[in-house]
Amino acid sequence: MEQEIPEVDAWFGTLELPQLLKEFQVDYKKELLGERLLSTPSHYAYLKISEGCNRTCAFCAIPLMRGEHRSRPMEEILREARHLAGSGVKEIMLIAQELTYYGLDLYRRRALPDLLNRLADIEELQWIRLHYAYPSRFPLEVLDTIRERPNICNYLDLPIQHASDCMLRAMKRQTSRFELTELFAAIRERVPGICLRTTLIAGFPGETREDVEVLKAFLQEQRFDRVGIFSYSHEEGTTAHDLQDDLSPEEKEERVQEIMELQQGISYEKNLEKVGLVFLTLIDRKEAGRWLGRTEFDSIEVDNEVIVHSTRKLEIGEFVPVRIREAYDYDLEGEVV
Ligand code: SF4
Repeated sequence: MEQEIPEVDAWFGTLELPQLLKEFQVDYKKELLGERLLSTPSHYAYLKISEGCNRTCAFCAIPLMRGEHRSRPMEEILREARHLAGSGVKEIMLIAQELTYYGLDLYRRRALPDLLNRLADIEELQWIRLHYAYPSRFPLEVLDTIRERPNICNYLDLPIQHASDCMLRAMKRQTSRFELTELFAAIRERVPGICLRTTLIAGFPGETREDVEVLKAFLQEQRFDRVGIFSYSHEEGTTAHDLQDDLSPEEKEERVQEIMELQQGISYEKNLEKVGLVFLTLIDRKEAGRWLGRTEFDSIEVDNEVIVHSTRKLEIGEFVPVRIREAYDYDLEGEVV
């Protein structure tokens, strides 16, 4: 890139903040680590617990761009979380390329349950949400922490990418349809009522109609609460780039639509089951005279919203109990009780 874009003055890696600041002749103050200006509304924040990834998924360029997995020291994460909580943040979304690997590099053990327990001790944090866990060798003790600590959301984002064994092998996902089935059964047993989100890829090289049918059958069987799907993108430098990208963009998009239509029906049925029930809802914003919020089972931007009616003025960042009276494909509607 340096050769291709010679007009760039300086280049920095993702962890080279001190060098970057030096370039701008600004002091790097280590004691300010953990102090953060939020680019999100003040009641929620993303909190990164590690950078990089040691997995070898065939389609993924992240390890090439972000390098090997590096956990942030626990104390540093806790300091940042306390600072966020102290400045009004009520919900944190823990993010990493791969959450379950947390601690293996730094502490020689999977330290996610430990980290979660210590974060859950911060009382002002009412919702702690987990994004991006890898399914192979998933540390089941994390589930006990989710179940036992009331301020950790009963929510898990666990991308599976596919469910056909041929595709899982080709994608180098180190798991199988059988193992995924066992894992989801164990998760649901340990945390009854947990909301499961997953992400899929349609149109990976060599994906046949049969693979698509296997994936659809798996979705019908598992009935995930939330599903995101991307059409396969052929990235230079990944091991999948050596394979022939044999499906046209139109064919990939058709598969995406086909799978999303199936999920739309499942999502609607699941939403119908919520009509008449009351859910604690976090108010995120007001739009066209309506309040919009989320339940514990929804993350910001990617999941469902609740359209909230209220006879009194609500505050952004306020938790209110909402009785659901209408269900839509991806959203709910109800009133404050
Ligand atoms: S898909 Fe996720 S787990 Fe796989 S290599 Fe990429 S970042 Fe790592």
